[in-house]
Amino acid sequence: MISNISYYKNLKSKSDFNGKLKHNVDLSKFTWLQTGGKAKLFFIPEKLIDLKKFLKNLNIDTPAFILGAGSNTLFRDLGYNGVVIKLSRNFEYIKIINDNEVKVGAATNCIKLARILARKGASGLEFFSGIPGTIGGAIKMNAGAYEKDTSDFLRKIKTINREGEIKYIYPHDYKMIYRETNFPEEFIFLEATFEYKKNKDVSDNLNKINELVTKRKLTQPIKEKTSGSTFKNPKNFKAWKLIQKSGCKNLRVGKASLSKLHSNFIINEGGATSKDIEKLGEKIREKVFKKLGIILDWEIRIIGE
Ligand SMILES: Cc1cc2nc3c(=O)[nH]c(=O)nc-3n(C[C@H](O)[C@H](O)[C@H](O)COP(=O)(O)OP(=O)(O)OC[C@H]3O[C@@H](n4cnc5c(N)ncnc54)[C@H](O)[C@@H]3O)c2cc1C
Repeated sequence: MISNISYYKNLKSKSDFNGKLKHNVDLSKFTWLQTGGKAKLFFIPEKLIDLKKFLKNLNIDTPAFILGAGSNTLFRDLGYNGVVIKLSRNFEYIKIINDNEVKVGAATNCIKLARILARKGASGLEFFSGIPGTIGGAIKMNAGAYEKDTSDFLRKIKTINREGEIKYIYPHDYKMIYRETNFPEEFIFLEATFEYKKNKDVSDNLNKINELVTKRKLTQPIKEKTSGSTFKNPKNFKAWKLIQKSGCKNLRVGKASLSKLHSNFIINEGGATSKDIEKLGEKIREKVFKKLGIILDWEIRIIGE
């Protein structure tokens, strides 16, 4: 049971939800870039019922942000003046429903999902094997790789809104295009139903994954503090090529620089601030636009003040 909450003004009443509720939590511990300020309030609901009670009790004017694995999020240095919600391990599960559908908890890691499915004789979602986020983040970002996107396999989503109401929604009722969706910001994804193809040849499934992983290791700095691709690829162009062509390869701001392996990956060399990263990104956008007349859009989500 949660006790000692000094942040009651955000809550309508003293509620009896379970989980971890903390104040002034250092957000750099929760993102891949390892930068950013503090969250005024940070909540990890133990179970769905706790999340429901919390949301029902949360004042409607309190900003709320749902965080997955933080592999595509940059929290600004002044932090987040509201509540950051992160789903607990109880939201991590994989249930094969029938011969072509699987239900996955939103906190499940995409890489883990790809490997578990491959071993269970389920094929199709191998592209997830290099995406280090959660299923919730993959839905929101319509994450993808190697010509496949989350939306290609997603059939149904279980969500909860700010009022704590649970609703099933269908991707075809929303926009899901290349790294962009129009799901309402208030929706927290709880569970997704994906379609898969049966392929009992487990070694064939695992070989597909190993090939993709090898390719990725050669071209991406997957062990660095990074958020993956900084910018989306503009139509008919590759962002990394535009960045190189504009002479940005060696740009840096403080301890933020571009990866030598992949020039669309900004890395925190250690000690970079979110401001360094954002400034470097903006310098690149400016240079690419001046030199080539092409606008690069951020793929990384920048959050906070
Ligand atoms: C090394 C590396 C490689 C990468 N490679 C790829 C790649 O190949 N392809 C690709 O598409 N991306 C890639 N990424 C980016 C990132 O992994 C994906 O965007 C991923 O889907 C983000 O998931 P996350 O859980 O980390 O989301 P977060 O960064 O935590 O959040 C991203 C967005 O999703 C929302 N969100 C998270 N969980 C939920 C939820 N339960 N309900 C509602 N909204 C939610 C957040 O509010 C936020 O708006 C890479 C990143 C890294 C670090």
